[in-house]
Order: sequence, then structure tokens, then C-alpha cells
Amino acid sequence: MNTSLTAQTTEISRILDTIKDPLSGQGLVTAGRVQGVHARADGRVSVVLEAPVGAEQFYETARAEAERRLGQAPGIEAVNVVLTSPTGAGGGAGVTRVRKGAPATAQQANAAPAKPMAGLPGVRAVIAVASAKGGVGKSTVAVNLACAFASLGLKTGLLDCDVYGPSAPTLLGLGAARPRMRADQKLEPLRAFGLHTMSIGYLVEIDAPMIWRGPMATSAVRQMLDDVAWDDLDLLVLDMPPGTGDIQLTIAQRLSLAGAVIVSTPQEVALADVRRGITMFEKTAVPILGVIENMAWLEQDNGVKLHVFGQGGAEKTARAFGAPFLGHIPIDLGLRESGDAGAPLVAARPDHPISARFRDIASAALSNMAAAQKPAPTIRFEG
Ligand code: ADP
Repeated sequence: MNTSLTAQTTEISRILDTIKDPLSGQGLVTAGRVQGVHARADGRVSVVLEAPVGAEQFYETARAEAERRLGQAPGIEAVNVVLTSPTGAGGGAGVTRVRKGAPATAQQANAAPAKPMAGLPGVRAVIAVASAKGGVGKSTVAVNLACAFASLGLKTGLLDCDVYGPSAPTLLGLGAARPRMRADQKLEPLRAFGLHTMSIGYLVEIDAPMIWRGPMATSAVRQMLDDVAWDDLDLLVLDMPPGTGDIQLTIAQRLSLAGAVIVSTPQEVALADVRRGITMFEKTAVPILGVIENMAWLEQDNGVKLHVFGQGGAEKTARAFGAPFLGHIPIDLGLRESGDAGAPLVAARPDHPISARFRDIASAALSNMAAAQKPAPTIRFEG
């Protein structure tokens, strides 16, 4: 390779490393996702990105972004970024599945298509954020987690289905905004802090008495699930109504969820709820991506942690049920204030230590989702 091509390849790698690997938050090259860079003297460039098995759907935005950024670089005339994934044991050793972009070989072209994960048009995967009771910080966690997914480079939506107290409009500072109804009778999501968002709060009069709200809420949930024009999202975060009743089950079944995250405080009463939450999702065969312990402690000025609601309970319960534990979120004034001010902490103050916790939790949840998508290994009995 001549020196100018070597310099070009180095520059391509540098550009690729400015794009985040959704699973680790590192640059694509640093994270080891770039399997090949080929630059030709005529300015044509080919790049091969390799997504981990089960996580392919999270890499389409990174792939498109790589094509866009490389396409703008000087000296590059044409770019093709191909996304591949080593298939699991079921696919046969060495077989590579190619998604989007031209398949390179007949063997790749014949590989099985990726399994659709979401029953929602325009959405590749839906994650539910659930809690078995209100007031544990589920909505605060859902909104900040959605911002954390967006900060990892995923095109992310937030769907607030909490019929009992929709809070996304407040948490995202969208208070009086109203979604537009398109000519095809689909609702257009609103945009805030890089998220595409829709809330049941726009459709239901929340101050109305429950007896009126009940039937309205049911039809509004249906409209939320069926009639929103999502625009090619990698991931939709669903803020579920608290509890484990019929409405939650209907949502879980209708959406073929890619996974569920359960939010709890460390308290005894909340722990019984974690058990109920885990059981509900297990019944509907939804993988539990993990449990988040919110309001885990309050750090005092002298640095001592006050365990206001007890210590480590949600973590213990998660482990007892074989569910992953995703992390702690302490009680934090900044988190509360940012919610009230309509500017989620993770988006408004990415350097805040709690924002870093949310990003770690988001990466761990994605890895767990990828693991849940992996085809089961084929076990062969010999003899
Ligand atoms: P839920 O959706 O479970 O009903 P919310 O997210 O609405 O709960 O949170 C309830 C209240 O607790 C809100 O005022 C919110 O700002 C606050 N809150 C939630 N988590 C935290 C936290 N880790 N630190 C401080 N305040 C929090």
C-alpha cells in the first residue's frame, strides 16, 4: 500500500473511532468492532463492522453514521460500510450474516434474516421499564435511561404509557405541546433532548376522575401502541404503568418486548413487588434485562452514605431470582431538580456522576439484551 493510502486508512480509523459502539460507549475501533478497512486509490472505501451476536439491530445507526461521516471526508469518493455478525452455534462456524449493505458472498446472502424483535412498525426493539408500584422513580429512570441509550448513538424513543400518572411531558419539558395527527391518522412523535417521544398524557385528561379515565385510558393505550408513526428507531423505551395487572400484561404481550428493566427501591415492601414484576415478565417470556435499585442511598456532605430505605435489597432479590442486577441510583437532588425542570440529567448534565451511572446501566442492559437474543447452542449427543 502506498503512503497516501496508509494515511487515508489511518484517517478512516480515526473517523470511525469518533462513532460510539452502542454496547460499550467506546469508539468503534477501540471497541474492536471494525473488522476491515479497505481504501482504494480511486477514492472508494469499504469498511466492515462486526456486531456481536444478538446485538445486530443496535448497529444500524452506527453503520449509517460511519457512511455519512466517511462520505464527508476529503479524498473519499464512495463509501460502503457493511455490517456483519458472526452467527451463533446454530449458524455454523465461520458463517457471517450480513445486514444492510451489499452481501459480499453467496454464503452470506443465503444466511438467515435477522429476527424482527418488535411488533411495532418503525421500531427495531422495545424495552419496558416497569415497577410494581408507583413512586419508586420508574419514570425518572425511564427518561434518563432513554437519554443514556441516545448518548450511546442509538436512535431512541420514549413511549410513556403510564395511565396513572404520565410524566414524560413534564420530565422532558414538553408540558403543553401536542402531537400532530398526520393525514393517515397516525400521531407524530414529539422531539426533545434527542429523543422521539409520545405520551398518554397528550390523549387523556389526567385530572379527570378515575371512573372516566379508566375506559379512556384503555383506548388511549391502544392508540399509543397502534397509531404512532415512529421513525426508524433502534430502540423504544416504554414507561409502563406501575403494577402487574391486566393492562401491563396486554402491553407486554402486544409489543413482543425485547426485554424488561425493573425499578425498585431497596425497601422490603418494594422487594415483594420486584418478585411480582419478575414473575409477570417471565410468564410472558420477556427476558429480564435487569433490576435497578433507585433511591439506594443519600450521600451526606461528609461523604457518609445514609441508607434511607435499607441497603442492597433489590440487588439481593434480583440475584435470588436469577435476574441480572444493573446498578444503583442514589437519591440525588440534581436528579430530582432536573426532572422538575424538564431537562433530564443525563442529557442536560452528561458529566454528572449519576449520568455516568445511567450510561453504564444502559450498556449493561444492551449487553444483556444481546445475550438474550443469542441462539441457544446446539448440543449434540454422540454415541
Ligand atoms: P414513578 O414513576 O415510579 O411514580 P417518579 O419517577 O415520578 O416515580 O419519581 C417520583 C419522585 O421521586 C419524583 O419527584 C422524582 O423526581 C423523585 N425521584 C426519583 N428518583 C429519584 C432519585 N434517585 N433521587 C431523588 N429524587 C428522585
